[in-house]
Amino acid sequence: SLGIGPLYYYGTEEQKMNYLPKLCTGNHLWAFGLTEPEAGSDSRGTKTKATLENDIWTIDGSKIFITNGSSELALGSTVQAVTKIDGEHREYSTIIVENGTKGFIAQPMHGKMMWRASDTAQLFFDNCKVPKENLLGKIGEGSKIMLSTLDNGRLSIAAMGLGCAQGAFELALNYAKERKQFGKPISKFQINAFKLADMATKIELARNLLYKACWLKDNKKPFAKEAAMSKLYCSEIAKQVADEAVQLHGGYGLMKDYPIERFYRDQRLLQIGEGTSEIQRLVISRYIGC
Ligand SMILES: Cc1cc2nc3c(=O)[nH]c(=O)nc-3n(C[C@H](O)[C@H](O)[C@H](O)COP(=O)(O)OP(=O)(O)OC[C@H]3O[C@@H](n4cnc5c(N)ncnc54)[C@H](O)[C@@H]3O)c2cc1C
Repeated sequence: SLGIGPLYYYGTEEQKMNYLPKLCTGNHLWAFGLTEPEAGSDSRGTKTKATLENDIWTIDGSKIFITNGSSELALGSTVQAVTKIDGEHREYSTIIVENGTKGFIAQPMHGKMMWRASDTAQLFFDNCKVPKENLLGKIGEGSKIMLSTLDNGRLSIAAMGLGCAQGAFELALNYAKERKQFGKPISKFQINAFKLADMATKIELARNLLYKACWLKDNKKPFAKEAAMSKLYCSEIAKQVADEAVQLHGGYGLMKDYPIERFYRDQRLLQIGEGTSEIQRLVISRYIGC
């Protein structure tokens, strides 16, 4: 959703026709270039600059942790850049940069704890020139475009958290029913049965919260607060459920032969990517009037 979203919601007819059919085949990817080395949670700390002269944008700066940025399948990135500084006021705009553009390099980042099949890249812009028409949306709308895209993206991360929790729970339940100690399945010890009951309850709550947020979005009602709540809750319970699921596996849960080990690692991104849990709480606290 981060890749196609900005093009779909804010692209001109020409931009949409140029990129969306190719992206919708599933054979190509698009990246969302917001995070920078000095601008993570503070998305308005962007240092990347773009200046317009003679109908050409010149972009200088860099991005970090950009999903799909250096994938062979990627066609390009949507990049947030500062397009004007007027005293305290900074204007942000979003610009489309296609892979292969002179002055643009996407470098893969290796060594992630989890999600090793997912490409993560650093993007470098050095006197990178793209035509004026590559502006996405209007000048000055950059922050709005990127942040509203993240509202949608939070639903996806929440869904990943829910799926991760559900998968870890199922592995733990099956294992606890099969594994015998002291002459009976470990699921028959009340402390373990209650752990599994708590896991099932959290998953049910997470599912209801996420489905409500999706329902609001589908029905064109405001959903940003519920999206942040879903992202926060689903990713946090994915952590708790995966942790308890490893505990129920005992020593085997730490071995790579057992899939639960991967769930334990995979969930860890979900409380960080697309806005950390702390930032979700910040967003929610603003919505409730703090
Ligand atoms: C695998 C992966 C894929 C990613 N994909 C993308 C992508 O496709 N596009 C993209 O633009 N970005 C992407 N990101 C970046 C991700 O969104 C950022 O890592 C995240 O927003 C946090 O920024 P940061 O890492 O700079 O941490 P920081 O912002 O430095 O935060 C460090 C810690 O400080 C806390 N903190 C910061 N500010 C506050 C505050 N005001 N109040 C309380 N606590 C605070 C944070 O919650 C965190 O715990 C990806 C990251 C990863 C790891």
